[in-house]
Amino acid sequence: MAALARSTFAVKKAVPTLARGYATPAASQPKDAFVGVKDSKGNYIVSLIEGDGIGPEISQSIKDIYAQAKVPIVWEPINVAPILVDGRSTIPEESIKSIKKNTVALKGPLATPIGKGHVSLNLTLRRTFGLYANVRPCKSIEGFKTPYENVNSVLIRENTEGEYSGIEHEVQPGIVQSIKLITYEASERVARYAFQYAETSGRPHVTAVHKAPIMKMSDGMFLQACRVVAKDFPNVKYDEDLLDRVCLRMVQNPAPYSDRVMVMPNLYGDILSDLCAGLIGGLGLTPSGNIGNSASIFEAVHGSAPDIAGQGKANPTALLLSSIMMLRHMGLYQHADKIEKAALSTIAEGKSITGDLGGKSSTSEYTEAVMKRL
Ligand code: ATP
Repeated sequence: MAALARSTFAVKKAVPTLARGYATPAASQPKDAFVGVKDSKGNYIVSLIEGDGIGPEISQSIKDIYAQAKVPIVWEPINVAPILVDGRSTIPEESIKSIKKNTVALKGPLATPIGKGHVSLNLTLRRTFGLYANVRPCKSIEGFKTPYENVNSVLIRENTEGEYSGIEHEVQPGIVQSIKLITYEASERVARYAFQYAETSGRPHVTAVHKAPIMKMSDGMFLQACRVVAKDFPNVKYDEDLLDRVCLRMVQNPAPYSDRVMVMPNLYGDILSDLCAGLIGGLGLTPSGNIGNSASIFEAVHGSAPDIAGQGKANPTALLLSSIMMLRHMGLYQHADKIEKAALSTIAEGKSITGDLGGKSSTSEYTEAVMKRL
């Protein structure tokens, strides 16, 4: 069956295990995914989507910290305000061109306008750039007190389909149907990425998280894809676990999950990653990377937080840690390590942290404290 044919891309080289255990996703991609476009002064050009709600505030923080750290990149700000083409929302052509050219972007949170024709902008970006895997690491910050001090999870979420396919209709008043669409191709692709990540990041164990006893065909096929891919990675241990059981065990004792990469369909990844975020101090601390064939886009796990927008209360750390994943993806390891150390030690010290972490500092006060440590 054609759909079962294996994709061919493979890891080209091993990547070092990095500070906090985040491996760069770069080596796990097809070779041409990061091109490294530079300006006339030799700085990398990175597309920047500031986003909505708290997006502009937290993006400003990143820009200030990067200027202080003298990171050799220039930002290319792009507008992704949706436009309607043939009754469907899409993003402006020049923004698509910017990301395609630079092959890397940092993105603040986007809110999807409510109204006819608007599909999620986040989904539009994922589909436009084939961002098939969303990598979400979650690690306790040493010195910052939370109920557990040993959280160290890496979750890889299928990013393009499943419950997010957006296929819903009303069968008749009072009865609606929502379709969870799963393809073997997308399942196999994200599974292969998870195994590549596991093999190259010092976590040689993949757990597929599922609800196959209920979603027999869809999750069943996801597992089938994982099992087929597992055969190509004899050095990586493979097992499977139920989503509800993982949630229960994770909140009882997260330690056993530090040795592995968890891979799962779209919605499960959304929910489980928020659970992991809660264990380390909240959404203000959790980064992510959307890995694709033609570009990769790094963004915080959280949304646009309209309830605190414009008030100087937002914690920029999640976007900052996402940008650090991006720097490693680009091979700028030293800058990544330096900024990460400054941010994490600021949080551990606890004097200049934002309200979501129990502190009293504003976004800019925290940003200045990080800059002082650089
Ligand atoms: P979405 O549906 O877009 O994912 P959401 O409904 O999950 O969004 P968020 O925007 O992520 O909601 O916010 C959830 C809660 O977390 C809000 O109370 C928000 O203020 C808080 N929050 C999110 N991000 C941050 C941040 N960076 N700093 C401080 N608080 C945050």
